[in-house]
Amino acid sequence: MKNRLEQARRIVVKVGSALLVDEKSGTLKASWLSSLVDDIADLRVRGADIILVSSGAIALGRRTLGLAKGKLELPQKQAAAAVGQIALAQAWAEALRTRNIVAAQVLVTLHDTEERRRYLNGRATLGTLLEQGAVPVINENDTVATTEIRYGDNDRLAARVASMMSADCLVLLSDIDGLYSAPPNRKGAEFIPEVRAITPEIEAMAGKPVSGVGSGGMITKIDAARIALGAGCNMVIASGHVEHPLRRIRSGERVTWFLAEATPLQSRKRWIAGTLQPTGRLTIDDGAKAALIRGKSLLPAGVKAISGSFSRGDTVSVIAADGQEIARGLVAYDSGDAQRIKGRKSSEIEKELGLAGRDELIHRDDLVMMTGNADGQ
Ligand code: GLU
Repeated sequence: MKNRLEQARRIVVKVGSALLVDEKSGTLKASWLSSLVDDIADLRVRGADIILVSSGAIALGRRTLGLAKGKLELPQKQAAAAVGQIALAQAWAEALRTRNIVAAQVLVTLHDTEERRRYLNGRATLGTLLEQGAVPVINENDTVATTEIRYGDNDRLAARVASMMSADCLVLLSDIDGLYSAPPNRKGAEFIPEVRAITPEIEAMAGKPVSGVGSGGMITKIDAARIALGAGCNMVIASGHVEHPLRRIRSGERVTWFLAEATPLQSRKRWIAGTLQPTGRLTIDDGAKAALIRGKSLLPAGVKAISGSFSRGDTVSVIAADGQEIARGLVAYDSGDAQRIKGRKSSEIEKELGLAGRDELIHRDDLVMMTGNADGQ
């Protein structure tokens, strides 16, 4: 079996606070960080995009702010994060710079990944950073997040980022090397090397629904796995307590793999085809229909009529001249703009709308054929 990290094209790596920050001194573990950055550089050389989700802001900031001891209240955590995030971003930027990699700090809140317009914007910005060769370093914007609308853990945040960016591998580096059938210190606890579905049994291993057995950390990791697998993204839980943690996964070290049954593109297309109610209809000409069947994107030039009121990113139906729904897709323009550019050449979009948008009305990755091959490939 080939190593999935080896094959992945877009990888999200989540780094836990305990790995980056020394518990006793509250300072950064620079040599470990440098070994991880070496691994990241190696993966990039073999062509993978890397996105980092890094914890550590609170752990780094609390001491500087004079909050070294005891459990912190939420406002104290938020204040510590405000101080620590500066040091955290600087540490990543400096470490990555030694390998000639540009770091980009991205702070997100729950709304940014859950609300459609922000989600689309985030996706576009992160996509641009990757195209330009930068490595996004993401954390929750702890200082402004409130309890109710807060991830609170970066496991689920990393999984949402992986889903948003159609990543094909999510690596959770933490202080545990994988999933066990019972708490690892208990007699008879077995290591689980591979999981293909999040069953109630798997949830129980993480300490759910029976409380108090598993570590709290495993529950959020299983939640992350559910998000990742649903998005067609493989996930791996691996120990970060060693130098070169990614190299070790590549060389087949013991880890737990959660394996998705579909690819990110297939999952995205299933989601488009199956779960959303189309809010608009685009009627296209025969030339556009032939292009879609060949696997091309839908350009404004091939659209004859538009009905319904929709926003950018909504699912719309694509209707052939004979009235049959032949495809569904996520539309790149709202209904007002789509009306103005329908029938036009892509080169005329900027003149018509006064701003340069996408050439396609629906990009092929966002389009699924409703007749024949459901994956639209
Ligand atoms: N966002 C938090 C921080 O940077 C960490 C959350 C977590 O540990 O998962 O300190």
